[in-house]
Amino acid sequence: MKLVVNKKIIIFFMLFTICILSFLFYPKDHSDIKPNKTSLSQQPTIASVKENSNKVIQTYEKKNSKKPLLICIDPGHQSKANTALEPLGPGSSEMKIKVAGGTTGVVTKKPEYILSLEASLRLGEILKKRGYNVVFTRTTNNVNLSNKERAEIANKSNADLFIRIHADGSNDHSTKGFSVLTPSKENPYIPSLYKDSLLISQNIVEEVTNDQSTIVKGISYRDDLSGFNWSKVPVTLIELGFMTNPEEDRKLSDPQYLTSLLMKIADGIDRYNSDVGK
Ligand SMILES: [Zn+2]
Repeated sequence: MKLVVNKKIIIFFMLFTICILSFLFYPKDHSDIKPNKTSLSQQPTIASVKENSNKVIQTYEKKNSKKPLLICIDPGHQSKANTALEPLGPGSSEMKIKVAGGTTGVVTKKPEYILSLEASLRLGEILKKRGYNVVFTRTTNNVNLSNKERAEIANKSNADLFIRIHADGSNDHSTKGFSVLTPSKENPYIPSLYKDSLLISQNIVEEVTNDQSTIVKGISYRDDLSGFNWSKVPVTLIELGFMTNPEEDRKLSDPQYLTSLLMKIADGIDRYNSDVGK
């Protein structure tokens, strides 16, 4: 009997203790288990939303803002060749004529220097419309500028790219195709320009190849061009096609064909612009 009473008392005390503890420790409000609500004072105001979105836009623009490239375009040749000599490159004892005469259209009879200027001015317009800054080594045919002097114009203008525009010629009138000349890895005068020059050359060739309306011969590596060797900026030389091939000569004087080809060249420059610095 004594034992039974004791058990009851113990059970009673245990229940009593549980009740007291529950009362003491049960949270008075349930805010700690409810989802957090932002108080009105903490809610973003329209001004702060605008400020934050401006910050996002500014960061985006900073990441994507590139100073527009300055492109120096060199329309190849001039109305009169200059056969006087100049060094092939800085410190070179090898001499080369200052500026050659260029080729002539077999059907159109158009000299290369006229086509190269037409194409260069049109390429300049396309690039300006795309936001590039453009300088030309010449805008008329009656000039006397050696290939070294043309490279120096690109250097002095602090151009980002030096694009030389030419057309090809061959004794074999069946030879045709678009090609790009670029300095080789072994070029002793401009080794530091090899990589970026090849990048612009490749991008142009790929864009013109993708278009499929032009036969593309590809890239030739050349270290014998003074217009490359005196350059201090990445350089490429575009041979638009063979003026000695009747079909290509006609096509290069067709404004529609020429413009679409130049648009592809501009696409190559766009790709270079987005690749540089990656
Ligand atoms: Zn030429």
